[in-house]
Amino acid sequence: MDKIAFCIDDNPSWRQACYELAEAFAAGIDIVFNEPCTHRIDISTTEDSIHMKAFEDDRLLFEKNYSAPAPAKTMPSKTFKRLIYRFLSAYFDKTLPWGCLTGIKPVKIAHQNLQDFDGNALEAADYMSVCYDVSEAKSKLAVELAKKEMAVVYPLDEKRVSVYVGVPICPAKCHYCSFVSTVSDKKGELAAMYLSDLLAEIEAFKAFFLKKDLTVDTLYIGGGTPSVFSAEQIDTLLSALQGVFIHPGLRELTFEAGRPETTTADKLAVLRQYGVSRVCLNPQSMNDETLSAIGRHHTAADIVEKFSLMREMGFDNINMDLIAGLNGEPPEKVMRSLQSVIALAPENITVHSLAIKRGAKMRAENGHRYVQLYNDAFYGELEQTLDDAGYHPYYLYRQKYTQGNGENIGYAKDGFDGIYNILMMAERQSIIGIGAGASGKCYHAAQNRFEKVFTVKDVRTYHMRLNETIDRKIAAYSAHLSD
Ligand code: SF4
Repeated sequence: MDKIAFCIDDNPSWRQACYELAEAFAAGIDIVFNEPCTHRIDISTTEDSIHMKAFEDDRLLFEKNYSAPAPAKTMPSKTFKRLIYRFLSAYFDKTLPWGCLTGIKPVKIAHQNLQDFDGNALEAADYMSVCYDVSEAKSKLAVELAKKEMAVVYPLDEKRVSVYVGVPICPAKCHYCSFVSTVSDKKGELAAMYLSDLLAEIEAFKAFFLKKDLTVDTLYIGGGTPSVFSAEQIDTLLSALQGVFIHPGLRELTFEAGRPETTTADKLAVLRQYGVSRVCLNPQSMNDETLSAIGRHHTAADIVEKFSLMREMGFDNINMDLIAGLNGEPPEKVMRSLQSVIALAPENITVHSLAIKRGAKMRAENGHRYVQLYNDAFYGELEQTLDDAGYHPYYLYRQKYTQGNGENIGYAKDGFDGIYNILMMAERQSIIGIGAGASGKCYHAAQNRFEKVFTVKDVRTYHMRLNETIDRKIAAYSAHLSD
């Protein structure tokens, strides 16, 4: 089956639920609404019930009738989603590990459940399974991660915030990437221009932090590829952050040196000098053929070399990212990459499921988002392999359009959970974003809600509108964060 049609009233949230779940069940399928199709699902309501019928070539395959509080057509999308999930589960003859949950932060639900059930993990997990048809294993995982999260985020303190400094510049574009990141030029003019702009924003935020009496809890310098800066430029950046942003009470300072071709001894020496406590070196795959196919200009041997360099220079907390699904890699190739990374023994390994969004070269060329390559057995083996090597999951998030409807999980050796990552996902602490593409979140503990603060993504637009952008961001954070 390559196409399915839903015949349904014009209810945007119900349509969205049909769309997201059909995609989760049938990778890469074409989903249309209210048009002729061999495979069709009709959804209609009466006053107090909802009917779903599955057709093939106008032949009725099966139907279900669900009673609902009147008027049925105003049923909340959450309830509708559970019903359409159950119907599609029968239609495709399978269940999904995350049930009808398509949101990106299932651990947030588990966190809330734990609070609602006074910390009773069993009840919190059961409730998640009952409400969303999440598998027992995933419910337990979500609750386990929520418990870790709670140990990091409490006690809440609105004066403690985390900071993300974005450097959306890369040495070359990876083919699967839809992130707004600009490729650096040979002369380094773009990086120089961006650094100068970034310094102006840092100065403005320094004054803001002092005025609001905010303390930086964790600092994350990410990208893009921040190591695209020269050693001198990194020195300038970290020197500007020194004091307000880098201070003795900082819980964690991460710097992404993800692309090995940009990682050099002189840059690492600067990172050490400023007390960077966690670095990222991201192979994505340890298969040279795959690395070449996805547009990475390095080999697996380069990764091993730069990892050794990081160790020699004293970094004792290194994260490495892998992506399952690149270049159509079969499970055994992904497992080989994982084994190669485990052999290096980094403190963190983050395993992403490939998500090819709009804007990625790979999606434009393939014309579809992904193909189904992995099953539950693969993910089970992956988790077991990591567990056997001493890595436990510590944070998780999901993305739309991921390979096998999988998730992204950060694994860590004991004592090395990535604190910023946990805080970012928990959404119980404000995150201030500095730089192009660095959006933020302002957390209001009393109402347990947060406001997002967006900014321009592209470095050239950021440059052209720098003063206006900085003013607007400071005004937005000022409005959302109390004095
Ligand atoms: S390094 Fe990251 S941000 Fe840069 S092009 Fe590759 S995937 Fe995109």
